[in-house]
Amino acid sequence: MIVVMKKGATAAEIGSLIARVEELDLTPHPIYGEMHTVIAVVGEAVNVEPEMFLQLPGVETVTRIGHQFKLASRQTMPEDTQIALNGTVIGGSKLVVMAGPCSVEDRTQMLETAHAVKEAGARILRGGAFKPRTSPYSFQGMGLKGLELLAEAREATGLKIITEVMTPDAVPMVSQYADILQIGARNMQNYGLLNAVGRTQRPVLLKRGMMSTIQELLMSAEYIMSNGNYRVMLCERGIRTFEPMTRNTFDLNAVPLLKQLSHLPVIGDPSHGTGRWDLVAPMAKAAVACGADGLIIEVHPKPEVAISDGPQSLKPERFAQLMRDLKPLAQALGREL
Ligand code: PEP
Ligand code: MN
Repeated sequence: MIVVMKKGATAAEIGSLIARVEELDLTPHPIYGEMHTVIAVVGEAVNVEPEMFLQLPGVETVTRIGHQFKLASRQTMPEDTQIALNGTVIGGSKLVVMAGPCSVEDRTQMLETAHAVKEAGARILRGGAFKPRTSPYSFQGMGLKGLELLAEAREATGLKIITEVMTPDAVPMVSQYADILQIGARNMQNYGLLNAVGRTQRPVLLKRGMMSTIQELLMSAEYIMSNGNYRVMLCERGIRTFEPMTRNTFDLNAVPLLKQLSHLPVIGDPSHGTGRWDLVAPMAKAAVACGADGLIIEVHPKPEVAISDGPQSLKPERFAQLMRDLKPLAQALGREL
């Protein structure tokens, strides 16, 4: 970090800053200028909040260099992380599409959707068995029965399964069924849950909180990784803004920025990002165009009767059309689908 002393800071003030830096086992490199003294502080400042130096007399500004996220940072690992999942690689040149209903509702719905999305080229089947609903009176998901239906659909199609886990207690049970654990937007900063999935070796799709910054998303990834699980995907799913015509504002800035800051795969979720089925295809293409490694898309055989997120769900034939449209786009970008 860089500490700039106030104009006219005394030798005693500079001395006490230097002493404090040394107490923290960091190395101060002072540069004595005509107006300001600047002190470059070098070392592993993991437990140091730079702003605390502002409490010392004579200190004007403190600037952190380097990122607070270390394991998730591209500075630490320049190569893209590739997550291998029995034949499917997430984060490689091939785009990975995850598709399926918001909630697992029944056997027919699940099997019908699984076959349809597989046929269209999806490689991972989504479906929530534990649903984080705004109202406690809304459908909360089928629970264990839902996980069993997902497993049956995997058996029938060969698709891998992604499903949400909402509590640390449920991590072992959900891990028995899921190939990828989904951390929902509302749980992005549930640190107990992040620690719990971090202690498994299951790949994790970490969704950005609807009111979370990109920095906070990366710090949450850091929680998972610092527990030993490096198989993390970052998911942009839209943030809250003042705009009421869409459910969220799909923050596409996050996609190339996350790719720049981190080596982890980035997945776009245009379904929750927009909340409207008619915007899903254009925004899916936009996410791919700006560098997403994959997409997660809600598909339902009858969106008009879906128990959750019908308005943003694609009918299977519309999903199939989107997959066809994505192929030449992927190719133009030097990727495959
Ligand atoms: C979902 O994927 O159905 C979901 C609940 O997403 P989010 O956590 O992004 O709202
Ligand atoms: Mn949903």
